[in-house]
Amino acid sequence: MRIAAAAVNSYEYKEVEKGIEEVLACFGGIEALIRSGERVLIKPNMLEGLPPERAVTTHPEVVRAVIRQVKRAGGIPLVGDSPGIGSGMKAAEKNGIAGVCREEGAELLAFAESAEYSFPEGKVIRKFHLTGELQQVDKVISLAKMKTHSFMGITGAVKNLFGCIVGPGKAQFHLRLKRRDDFAAMLVDLALLVKPVFFLVDGIVGMEGNGPRNGSPIQAGVILGGTNGFAVDLVMGQMMGFNSEELPVSRLALARGLVPGLKRIEVVGSGRELRWDFQPPYNLESLDGRVPPFLVRFFQNQFTYRPVMNEKCTGCSRCAQHCPPQAIKIENGKAMVDYEQCIRCYCCQELCPFDAVILEQGLLLKLFGRKK
Ligand code: SF4
Ligand code: SF4
Repeated sequence: MRIAAAAVNSYEYKEVEKGIEEVLACFGGIEALIRSGERVLIKPNMLEGLPPERAVTTHPEVVRAVIRQVKRAGGIPLVGDSPGIGSGMKAAEKNGIAGVCREEGAELLAFAESAEYSFPEGKVIRKFHLTGELQQVDKVISLAKMKTHSFMGITGAVKNLFGCIVGPGKAQFHLRLKRRDDFAAMLVDLALLVKPVFFLVDGIVGMEGNGPRNGSPIQAGVILGGTNGFAVDLVMGQMMGFNSEELPVSRLALARGLVPGLKRIEVVGSGRELRWDFQPPYNLESLDGRVPPFLVRFFQNQFTYRPVMNEKCTGCSRCAQHCPPQAIKIENGKAMVDYEQCIRCYCCQELCPFDAVILEQGLLLKLFGRKK
């Protein structure tokens, strides 16, 4: 199996275009993936309407380069995502992707309506409700951002597809799949169902630390790509400095034989030697898999991080509105968490606009110590 990594040092369009072309050339070029007349959904990460320099969303110049590639193959490019909160259209205006779509004549899709997708071969989910737009396209290209993620460790090629679930539907998955491994297994099923024809990751500037929203931008200088999203994420995680075969989605994909181990993945391209030391998200060292599941369930509060609101909390209530089990109340102008109800999904940390949610170690987790 092969993954391509192109070294790209800035978002200057010509450089981005060269990087995308280099990656695609390793797989026979865009013409090997897209046929003339096909409708192609380009799925960027549009977590929220934030400017590109925050490194939360796929950079608009990367989206532009992929739109042009699809057009070059005679395809019809469409761009869409469902952000964590609010409308995709508004988010796209703020993060620059809507402007690029207008300039390039690519339709921007709202991802407003869900449709049912049966997936009998799913390991944990056999029926998904995803954006109905997937039924209107011939191919999907996942166009992710390279970031750390408080719940999954990293977010890249595969986790990007969670945006195919429309708005509030995302919270239902957190409620149903509270354990990290169960949630990761759902992501594996989702990737197999959506089955993008290609996975690209914008890692020119990635995010480290408190990702996927409140971390710090880090210049990583790479665009990654491949036809197997699990392999792209394995390589990406390793480049970020993590033991990527142990990250939840990768571990399950390896166990299911959906991807070979890192040693059997050939990394090609001008960026193949790049390595960094990304600051991990705080709860990366969950004890899932290291202690028996019944113990984790019994002592959940001690085995995991818990969200704590710090002095930056303004009481804006965004976290309370999106907390899947409604475990947050606003009292005296500040968010308060009911830890008996909290399922440790970290949506509050992900969505807080003021970086006011810190993750505090549970007692037993402290004893086991932090590992990268
Ligand atoms: S924690 Fe963040 S999202 Fe929640 S109320 Fe405070 S400022 Fe708002
Ligand atoms: S309080 Fe935060 S971590 Fe806990 S369930 Fe609500 S959103 Fe998830």
